[in-house]
Amino acid sequence: MSADGRDLLDLSLVELAASLAAKRVSAREVTDAALAHIERTDARVGAFLEVTAGKARAQATAADERAARGRRLGPVDGVPIALKDLFLTRGVETTCGSRILEGFVPPFDATAVERLEAAGAVLLGKLNMDEFAMGSSTENSAFKPCHNPWDLARTPGGSSGGSAAAVSARQAFGSLGTDTGGSIREPAAFCGVVGMKPTYGRVSRYGVIAFASSLDQVGPLGRSVGDAAVLLQTIAGRDERDMTSSPRPVDDYLASLEGGARGLRIGVPREWLEAGVEAGVERRVREALAAYERMGARLVDVSLPHTRYGIAAYYLIAPAEASSNLARYDGVRYGLRTQGGAGLGDMYGETRRQGFGPEAKRRIMLGTYALSAGYYDAYYLRAQKVRTLLRRDFDRAFETCDVVAGPVTPTVAFRLGEKVDDPLQMYLADVFTVTCNLAALPGLSLPCGLHPVEQLPVGLQLVGRPFDEATLFRTARALERELGPLPRPPGVS
Ligand code: GLN
Repeated sequence: MSADGRDLLDLSLVELAASLAAKRVSAREVTDAALAHIERTDARVGAFLEVTAGKARAQATAADERAARGRRLGPVDGVPIALKDLFLTRGVETTCGSRILEGFVPPFDATAVERLEAAGAVLLGKLNMDEFAMGSSTENSAFKPCHNPWDLARTPGGSSGGSAAAVSARQAFGSLGTDTGGSIREPAAFCGVVGMKPTYGRVSRYGVIAFASSLDQVGPLGRSVGDAAVLLQTIAGRDERDMTSSPRPVDDYLASLEGGARGLRIGVPREWLEAGVEAGVERRVREALAAYERMGARLVDVSLPHTRYGIAAYYLIAPAEASSNLARYDGVRYGLRTQGGAGLGDMYGETRRQGFGPEAKRRIMLGTYALSAGYYDAYYLRAQKVRTLLRRDFDRAFETCDVVAGPVTPTVAFRLGEKVDDPLQMYLADVFTVTCNLAALPGLSLPCGLHPVEQLPVGLQLVGRPFDEATLFRTARALERELGPLPRPPGVS
């Protein structure tokens, strides 16, 4: 229990940081509480692939020692968080949700992990995900399904399903995920937490297992907008080891967080609320927009006419890049190696046949085909042109608005098993999220209430100008203040 009688695990990261700073609670106490809660709930949720309890306790003890000497490092010092299992963690197995990396123990940390640890964060473990981050439900995990804490028969979304489920279930105070076509925002929406995909280049991808390198971006998930802002603040900024990371200085996200919505121009793309969005989702999104108007923002009609080509372009570009990124898993350098066979070629083939699941294989084949001589111009190059058109759509929209707003997904969380045998249906869950990656823009997912019938979280998506994460946080915070926090999800209470 915290001082005001609330369960410690219900505190937000920002509230916990204040309690730690005031010594109302110790890092060890909260870490033990989180580990016990994971122990109690994760057989049902399936968010963790590995719990690093020993490491977490040691880090928490070190945080308490710093606090005792008056040397707290900042807001994440002593705060228990967890990582999608595609961040390299020195000495801790990193599988990317795939059999082909089973047993792979990286010799170094990803930059984002290094920065969190340098800031004193306590790492609880590695989180479940779709294999190689390919998927929208975490059902492509090679190891086990992950369940939505709001309804254990539903998916938590994906590919960062474990990252969203763990935060929603109060197992961690925040987490890191990655988003290539929606993998932070969609699970955040399904699980009722805040997820931020920053601008391409805002966070280093060094030590992050690559899916589609021109689209992948690291970002935080948290129980509040402030929590996500604190985490992004900790990991953002130039890294000499990732040449695509931006040298632009990182804004102070907390400084403008409480700035409110007055005077903001919120663009509402007509293509995002057309037929296809389920009625209850549309209702909550429209209510959120109306709330912004009441708070003094102005709604502006905008158009993103190329939205409908987004999925087609994404599902050429992402597999094309994946087919090349996944070529390195050959049984020689990492993880799994199958025995037997006639020679090296057989060993490569057999390792990949056994090591990759069906979705990874589908993408490798699709991507290899799209890049092959004779088809390159018809598919890959065409898709790249669509990418430019999408970016121009957004550039034009941002001439008349500061933020673009709409749904994150067409529906609330779907049932486990519902789409897993129909890849195209699964891909369509990404219709509103992929364009933001293709255009390299920042996008945030914010809970905007529960679906009126299904009683499951609905997500509002806010997309901003390049490197304008600060405005997204501020805009999101205004609505969060208006709506208040969601209750603890029923699946884990
Ligand atoms: N669902 C999308 C896909 O399967 C996005 C995944 C992601 O963002 N990593 O590719």
